[in-house]
Amino acid sequence: MKARQAYDELIQRVREYSILQSCAAVLDWDERTYMPRAGSAHRSEQAALLARMAHELFTSPRIGELLTVVEDSDLIHHEESDEAVNVREIRRSYHRATKLPKDLVEELARTTCRAQQVWQEARRDNDFKSFLPWLENIVALKRREAEAIGFDDCPYDALLDEYEPGATTAEINASFSALRKELVPLVGAIVESGKKPRREILEREYPLERQRIFGEAAAAAIGFDFRRGRLDVTTHPFCTGLGPGDCRLTTRYNLNHFSDAFFSILHEAGHGIYEQGLCPEHFGTPRGEAISLGIHESQSRMWENFVGRSFPFWEYFFPRACQTFHDALSDVSLDEFYFAVNDVQPSFIRVEADEATYNLHILLRFEIEQALVTGDLKPADVPAVWNEKFKQAFNLTPPTDTLGCLQDVHWSSGGIGYFPTYTLGNMYAAQFMEVAQADLGGLEEDFRRGEFGRLKGWLNEKIHRPGKTYRAADLCFRVTGERLSHKPLLDYLRNKYSELYGI
Ligand code: ZN
Repeated sequence: MKARQAYDELIQRVREYSILQSCAAVLDWDERTYMPRAGSAHRSEQAALLARMAHELFTSPRIGELLTVVEDSDLIHHEESDEAVNVREIRRSYHRATKLPKDLVEELARTTCRAQQVWQEARRDNDFKSFLPWLENIVALKRREAEAIGFDDCPYDALLDEYEPGATTAEINASFSALRKELVPLVGAIVESGKKPRREILEREYPLERQRIFGEAAAAAIGFDFRRGRLDVTTHPFCTGLGPGDCRLTTRYNLNHFSDAFFSILHEAGHGIYEQGLCPEHFGTPRGEAISLGIHESQSRMWENFVGRSFPFWEYFFPRACQTFHDALSDVSLDEFYFAVNDVQPSFIRVEADEATYNLHILLRFEIEQALVTGDLKPADVPAVWNEKFKQAFNLTPPTDTLGCLQDVHWSSGGIGYFPTYTLGNMYAAQFMEVAQADLGGLEEDFRRGEFGRLKGWLNEKIHRPGKTYRAADLCFRVTGERLSHKPLLDYLRNKYSELYGI
């Protein structure tokens, strides 16, 4: 068989798999936005059938045969060619998918589905004990998964690889501990400064329909294309790219909190701009897909925080906010508003954390996950270890497990290895932003005029269009000339907060 012919058949099969996956994504979006609750049993049957069909398509031995033919040919000679990129990444996914025994995949799906329900109740009732057997089971299954996939250094690597291909636990540990060393004293200095913004500014009444109009206008201004996407309401905001020309953002509105919807819209629009920036002609193949969760998160954080929480951004948007929310903001100045949206305050809940303390929440989870996977930490000891580490990082002790180790969905859903991608995203965002500022010059002037096209164009070219051509670490080096470092993020946080808090 000719290599070209094999490659074409491979791509055709992988595209079909991706199209099937995108059908599942439409159903998933619907489930989380508009589906009546009574539809849930039938929806899970639909989802299970599609998942099985997709898995069968992708793990067919034919894919393995085709890969072997192409890998032995000249077709993938240039490692940055579309062919080489697709073959490299399809091989990686095929390897992962076929290494996992079928019974383990099914057991994980069944367990995590039930565990999420148990976890919801456990969180509501502050009842870690009822969740414990499920956590034990999930950790055991994930350890089996790591063994099945294989690893060089530590089992956590095998799990991390699902979300951040090519990253290693050792490297992440090194950057995270460097980050922690400087972040803890920075947060301490902010708290000790005694300065506090008028937080109640954001907790006044913000009419919902006006929030929607204002949020959509901001998302459109930064470059989310509403002809190729839309915004709907959900409980836990997310963004999903359903295919070329169709990207869905979601948010939730809170009448008495401006930030909830506004910053989640900017965040999800950042993910959406990445999805819309991928090459449609490569849809369904790795060449047309996002690199990793860490890089994806760098795009959402870039727009949410580095742009959306900057002073120049609000120089443009604050007068508009005053028009839209006249009653809430009539006695508020730009400086006060800017300070309020950049309030730093150690708190128990990760998803409500500010830019500075957020990363401390992640570091803690990353350490606990690693110890669970190596077996050094027993699931039964998680609450005690959580509280002890929390005290060290935040100087606070969670009064309940609901406000502590039971707060996140990730472990009950089997997402061990996911957490570090959030802080990686923050680090990548800071490093990209430094270079974008140097390359483009005058970005703050742009923002002040409500002009975001040059930054978006830069991100499109450097980060979105290459798809999976490079691994995250290589992309970082190509774009910034440096390996990923904690320094740009720290410099950014230090600059911002030294001004706001006078430290
Ligand atoms: Zn995100």
